[in-house]
Amino acid sequence: MRANIAVTYNEIGTLSVRLYRYREALVAYDEALIHLVGGFKREQRDAYIGMSEAHEALGDLGAALGAVKKVREIEAALTNEAARNTIERRELTLSMRRLSDEWERLAKEDALTALPNRRALEQWMSAALSRADAEHLIALLMIDVDHFKQVNDKFGHITGDTVLRTPAELIRQNCRYADLPARFGGEEFILAMPQTELSVGKVVAQRLNIAVAEYDWHTFQAGLAVTISVGVATPAEIALDGISNATNALLEAADRRLYQAKKLGRNQVVV
Ligand code: GH3
Ligand code: MG
Ligand code: MG
Repeated sequence: MRANIAVTYNEIGTLSVRLYRYREALVAYDEALIHLVGGFKREQRDAYIGMSEAHEALGDLGAALGAVKKVREIEAALTNEAARNTIERRELTLSMRRLSDEWERLAKEDALTALPNRRALEQWMSAALSRADAEHLIALLMIDVDHFKQVNDKFGHITGDTVLRTPAELIRQNCRYADLPARFGGEEFILAMPQTELSVGKVVAQRLNIAVAEYDWHTFQAGLAVTISVGVATPAEIALDGISNATNALLEAADRRLYQAKKLGRNQVVV
């Protein structure tokens, strides 16, 4: 309300200047400023601009200069305020983006092992398979901990959880930057390796198999021994062309081989 009154006084001031009634104009601007104490910088600026014109017209250059100085001060404050608003908006945008990035990251991460989870894997796979060249050069390792139920039964679930982190870490250590290690669910893991021939996938799978079998499990718990079975598949040998869900087809192929590895006695790789 007070600002509205001030704006009206400013308008009276402007009109008065146009009518060469400078003293009346100064009175109006004074009134405007009284109503603008403590805020409304733009309106204050307008009042001082009008005042400087009126003083100049009346030949009081000192007063005109005083009013101009006020205008400059207010302009500086206004500019700072605009700059502050801009930087505050930017800070807000950035912190909101950081939050949503963090949510996105958490939604794609397995809480127990900190590996990418199944959702992340599926996203990665569909992107990788659509990008892969004619030969679909990806090796997919499906890794399952052997007799893990017995580990839980014998040593308890808490130890079971701790044990699960180790194959996860060994898989992570055995992959290249471009590979995607993931926890597929339960005691099953995936290592997806782009630009990798089946034969190389086999070598990596065997290396992992040995790394887990030779790990010093006794440090966790006396009598503990853990092994894994691995099935390896590539899109090339299962002819993915024309299959609508290439990711599932590849996972199923690797799973069939994993099942064979289990049937053959576990702690081994089937390619
Ligand atoms: P196989 O060699 O045939 O794979 O036998 P297995 O016992 O490993 O397989 P099975 O599928 O019968 O059992 C898997 C077990 O893994 C059962 C389930 O309780 C356990 N498990 C799955 N997720 C977790 C987990 O996050 N923590 C713990 N501690 N256990 C888990
Ligand atoms: Mg399993
Ligand atoms: Mg198992």
